[in-house]
Amino acid sequence: MMKKINPVDQFNRPLRDLRISVTDRCNFRCTYCMPAEIFGERYEFLPKEKLLSFEEIYRIAKVSVQIGVKKIRITGGEPLVRQDIPDLIEMLAGIDEIDDIAMTTNAYLLEKFAQDLKDAGLNRITVSLDSLDDDVFQKMNGRGFDTSKVKNGILEAKKVGLSPIKINVVVQKNVNDHTILELIEWCRENNLIPRFIEYMDVGNLNQWDLSEVIFSKQLIDQINDVFPAEPIESAYRGEVAKKYRFLDGKGQFGVISSVSQPFCGDCTRLRLSPEGEIFTCLFGQKGLDLRSSLRSGVSDEDLIHIIQNTWKARDDNYSEQRSSLSNKNLKKVEMYHIGG
Ligand code: SAM
Ligand code: SF4
Ligand code: SF4
Repeated sequence: MMKKINPVDQFNRPLRDLRISVTDRCNFRCTYCMPAEIFGERYEFLPKEKLLSFEEIYRIAKVSVQIGVKKIRITGGEPLVRQDIPDLIEMLAGIDEIDDIAMTTNAYLLEKFAQDLKDAGLNRITVSLDSLDDDVFQKMNGRGFDTSKVKNGILEAKKVGLSPIKINVVVQKNVNDHTILELIEWCRENNLIPRFIEYMDVGNLNQWDLSEVIFSKQLIDQINDVFPAEPIESAYRGEVAKKYRFLDGKGQFGVISSVSQPFCGDCTRLRLSPEGEIFTCLFGQKGLDLRSSLRSGVSDEDLIHIIQNTWKARDDNYSEQRSSLSNKNLKKVEMYHIGG
């Protein structure tokens, strides 16, 4: 058994979370993430041989716990379109030092998979659902799907005990902001935790513009007018959502203010792309390839060194510098590629 080490980065941040993107494919074409006009029929996704195998992902996770990782989130693309995904969960759940395994999904296929995921050892699930208004949802997911399958998936996940269930809502001005209160109402009835995310300038494909962002402060005021709420203390370092509890005791909500109140100071996340590159920031420009090392027989010890050295050199704080950076010139990794 190797001795555990706890490297910190250039801003004294430890490594705690590993976000694993298991595929670059998705059954949705959300306008802010994989616009349908770009990701059309002819778009070339990664071929199977370029994807990390479950064994390769497992190996990276297993050595990462030696340098501090305690939480894993499976994301994508859409993780439920990766074949046999419960098998990967089962392998990861076998790593003793991992306290928590979660998944972020659009839930379109969740009704079918919820029980298997739970049985495999998944602890929690976060579902992305931007609106309950079918017209709005159909436009935002870019595929014309209504909300029925997503809602059924969420209710099934609740039934099998994949809780607490968080609902991620990307808020875009004049797109879905008028449907937020309806969504809160539904979450309150079903004991779900909505989290409102400021629309971010991830990647270069979504034509992001600051004028489309609704700042959390404004949103909280809007929610408070109808459902009075008070702030709750953060549970741990690195918690990205600021949480509020409704004063009538019926549930809570969160806001993720990555644009207006960046939280880089507490960011303890490492991201693994489907083809095996590690990124130390969601807004990273270049990842470090681990796949070649894995496929040319790297030892566990050397793999740990590579990841550890990458973490030690990390000096990312993109969100804190956003306004001073000339965004248009940065070639950033896309969200569908490394997940949220
Ligand atoms: N397909 C899964 C899903 O949608 O839940 C997982 C991957 S998706 C890239 C992860 C999260 O990123 C989702 O909650 C999505 O809403 C969020 N996201 C994608 N693009 C975003 C953007 N430009 N700004 C804010 N959040 C974004
Ligand atoms: Fe797919 Fe998730 Fe991106 Fe939507 S946000 S296109 S569901 S990866
Ligand atoms: Fe972490 Fe990068 Fe986001 Fe800052 S901008 S919170 S460093 S992922």
